[in-house]
Amino acid sequence: MAKLIQAIRGMNDILPEQTPYWQYVESIFRQLMQSYGYQEIRMPIVENTALFKRSIGEVTDIVEKEMYTFEDRNGDSLTLRPEGTACCVRAAMQHGMLHNQTQRLWYSGPMFRHERPQKGRYRQFHQFGVETFGLAGPDIDAELILMSNRLWQLLGMGDDVVLELNSLGSSEARQQYREVLVKYFEAHQPELDEDSQRRLHTNPLRILDSKNPDMQRLNENAPKLIDHLDDESKQEFETLCKILDDAGVNYKINPRLVRGLDYYSKTVFEWVTDKLGAQGTVCAGGRFDGLVEQLGGKATPAMGFALGLERLIELIEIPQDKQKENNLDVYFVLMGDAAISKGIPLAEKWRSALPGLKLQVNCGGGSIKSQMKKADKSGAEVAFILGDEEIEKNVIAVKFLREKKEQEIIEMDNIPGYLSKKI
Ligand code: ATP
Ligand code: MG
Repeated sequence: MAKLIQAIRGMNDILPEQTPYWQYVESIFRQLMQSYGYQEIRMPIVENTALFKRSIGEVTDIVEKEMYTFEDRNGDSLTLRPEGTACCVRAAMQHGMLHNQTQRLWYSGPMFRHERPQKGRYRQFHQFGVETFGLAGPDIDAELILMSNRLWQLLGMGDDVVLELNSLGSSEARQQYREVLVKYFEAHQPELDEDSQRRLHTNPLRILDSKNPDMQRLNENAPKLIDHLDDESKQEFETLCKILDDAGVNYKINPRLVRGLDYYSKTVFEWVTDKLGAQGTVCAGGRFDGLVEQLGGKATPAMGFALGLERLIELIEIPQDKQKENNLDVYFVLMGDAAISKGIPLAEKWRSALPGLKLQVNCGGGSIKSQMKKADKSGAEVAFILGDEEIEKNVIAVKFLREKKEQEIIEMDNIPGYLSKKI
């Protein structure tokens, strides 16, 4: 026998027993976006490689080592999107959506990064993303944070995540801070790990983001960006904190929160959990005022966040009533050829009469015993049984699969009325 072909490592199938979780969070998210007046945008999964190099930054983990980049048949360099922000900016610019107008957008879909697969870290993973354009904050910054906070409440995981907040300041302030930081790390050069040595002159802020415990002490004592903010950023950060205080949202200011991508400025935030081991960031976002210009457009303030669905789904339970939503109402047992001919059109008629009805018709025949076994396994509440005797009398026999109740005989014409009381 030929060897079975397996899925790519780090790229997962989402099987029927898991899809209810996905559908549940997708429906909550959609509802949330509607309630804040955000519109959905859908971008392609593949983009020109240059888009990510120019936006995310050449010396970031994503661009240095995580992108799925390939040459297509024309010799163009293409990349499977590692994130959505750059794609969203590209699309919004290309379609003239940023000219003298504001946008509040959302998207969802798969992202691709060649990382070492482990729990909470995959090579194909899924994000919900929200991006706003033309709004300078801090009001919109607060809106996005409150919106993510509302999502945790809706999903019943409010106690599992905490908000970490920082401001990266203007790019000038960051440039000045960068010099202070490089001086500090240069004075401690022997203590730097290999990654940090490499980043010292390319992307020193990222050293602060190091996950290496040996770097912890050095990073804790490093000069803090928040002490080097420009006045405008400082003011805006204070206003944001005040709105969050007034709204009763708890947060922790984390001066080492710098985010892994180059395009962030001013407000950055993460929602983190201690319930998922090392992969603790569920949602991350920030302001990226420079990105539109960096990609060739007119300077446009922008702010967004993205959350990882795989990590989110690890943290939630589906409420009981929602769990039942996917269950079948009826499994339709058909005994013999006459029942098959009559039953299939009948099922169609009932589905038309009752759009909410979830009814599965037995296919492939079988004895009453084997069909009833399938009915039980289907999860349906009741089995409808149609055989020669029922056809003769123009009735359906109804057997209760989940309750101890006597079988009922219902006139065929009364079935829609009977069902409408049940569902
Ligand atoms: P991390 O520090 O965990 O690598 P990141 O900073 O690279 O995260 P972002 O680019 O900000 O992550 O993406 C936003 C969210 O997407 C993350 O907070 C996380 O929930 C999710 N995410 C990122 N990379 C992966 C991955 N490889 N597998 C699963 N989820 C991911
Ligand atoms: Mg990463």
